[in-house]
Amino acid sequence: MTIATLDLAAETQKLLSELGVDAARYTGGSLRVASPITGREIGLLKEHSVADAKKAIDEAHKAFAEWRAVPAPKRGELVRLLGEELRAAKPALGRLVSVEVGKITSEGLGEVQEMIDICDFAVGLSRQLYGLTIATERSEHRMMESWHPLGVVGIISAFNFPVAVWSWNAALALVCGNSTVWKPSEKTPLTALAVQALFEKALKRFVAEGGQAPANLSTLLIGGRDVGEVLVDHPKVPLISATGSTAMGRAVGPRLSQRFARAILELGGNNAAIICPTADLDLTLRGVAFSSMGTAGQRCTTLRRLFVHESIYDKLVPRLQKAYQSVPIGNPLENGTLVGPLIDKAAFEKMQSALSEARSAGGKVTGGERVENGAAEAFYVRPALVLMPSQTGPVEHETFAPILYVMKYTDFDDVLDLHNAVPQGLSSSIFTNDMREAETFVSARGSDCGIANVNLGPSGAEIGGAFGGEKETGGGRESGSDAWKAYMRRATNTINYGKTLPLAQGVKFDV
Ligand code: NAD
Repeated sequence: MTIATLDLAAETQKLLSELGVDAARYTGGSLRVASPITGREIGLLKEHSVADAKKAIDEAHKAFAEWRAVPAPKRGELVRLLGEELRAAKPALGRLVSVEVGKITSEGLGEVQEMIDICDFAVGLSRQLYGLTIATERSEHRMMESWHPLGVVGIISAFNFPVAVWSWNAALALVCGNSTVWKPSEKTPLTALAVQALFEKALKRFVAEGGQAPANLSTLLIGGRDVGEVLVDHPKVPLISATGSTAMGRAVGPRLSQRFARAILELGGNNAAIICPTADLDLTLRGVAFSSMGTAGQRCTTLRRLFVHESIYDKLVPRLQKAYQSVPIGNPLENGTLVGPLIDKAAFEKMQSALSEARSAGGKVTGGERVENGAAEAFYVRPALVLMPSQTGPVEHETFAPILYVMKYTDFDDVLDLHNAVPQGLSSSIFTNDMREAETFVSARGSDCGIANVNLGPSGAEIGGAFGGEKETGGGRESGSDAWKAYMRRATNTINYGKTLPLAQGVKFDV
């Protein structure tokens, strides 16, 4: 079947029904959703109004007041059940991710696997959430820290990881004793409806098995920026985790700091790799190809800048050019496709304008053209490889499309400076078999990014590590390691179990 004749509206309906979503939720509304695979409509969702959003947050706050009293390991049981529902639904939900975002099949399924992984992680965490005990200078006293639930956690997510980002936040927030309110991207609300239905299924099982959980523990708000702004400004939302462009973070950050709310900002990246003289070139080629062309260049961690040492430039670059020219582009639901469509026409236009900027700055562009396959409203492109004379113009910005800027370098210290000389600081990597170069890259004077890898590309993180970046990427961390602490408040407790009242620092105050 050609792309032009694919009936993805019918398939979407079937998948949503299998995932437990009532058809009334995605028909007859005002928010039009198109699949980037065909460019044609697959849903018309009803949107929440600003008033609906405010009311939902008030209800979520009531849910928080009850949920925080449930012991954390019991809260973990709900997340365990959510993980079970996700396991059972993986084929359907993964397929729906592919249909709604245009990811190739293994990436659609991989996104759901990531949700399952973070649920497992959060279940373990629900029996930890530990604080410290701290030596105190006062006799017969004990000092310790306790971690308490925080409140309603607002989650704003981007189109390119339409469901995994929710799970990174929600699985942790829920075991930490919070309720959540989620505003997904207006480009990908169908997968959000499906996830909400799976959560509700898990919640029903939890209650049927004797668990105590309030209504409105996890709420979904469908809408655009105006609905997101209600979350950002609401006094009963102490933490917003917002994933999206740096422009979005620039709008959201100051509004949150104005009311002293916490922010986890996960914004744009402009990720680089340095290819050193000793690099294993076969491995490098694969690492670079996946990181730069995978997900059609639409990952926050996509490789966008490549610095190649002059001694291997002529060996590596022709091989890369060949890979760029031959990578299979097309229907992401078909086996063998590696590059699916861009999300929409606006993404295509931004890509074209970055390429013409690159040409004006002396860049030599191969690829980047539209790939015609009969789907007039869909936007497939050949990934672009741009040989740049220096790091200038569009190389300094994130263009959310498959463009790789290639630059030659001579000196290691100089390339480290260039690597760090962009405003973004998300992910980075080095390909080398020289131990000094590898260790320097991950040291304090090396990469200034939140993620720094050796002998693998910058994209494709696992949930066990804390995920996020520096500078214009926003500074937030979510997912693994101790990222859970952002979803709780810390109290330092000092307990006097003696019969006297010694004051700290030797202060005397006898009345
Ligand atoms: P976007 O900024 O257009 O939208 C992201 C979300 O923010 C959407 O839900 C949108 O409705 C909401 N939003 C926008 N302005 C808002 C405002 N003023 N107040 C409240 N909500 C607002 O981003 P996108 O096009 O969906 O996603 C692509 C971008 O996201 C890229 O820049 C990419 O690098 C970034 N991203 C970052 C990460 C990360 O973890 N660092 C992960 C995925 C995507």
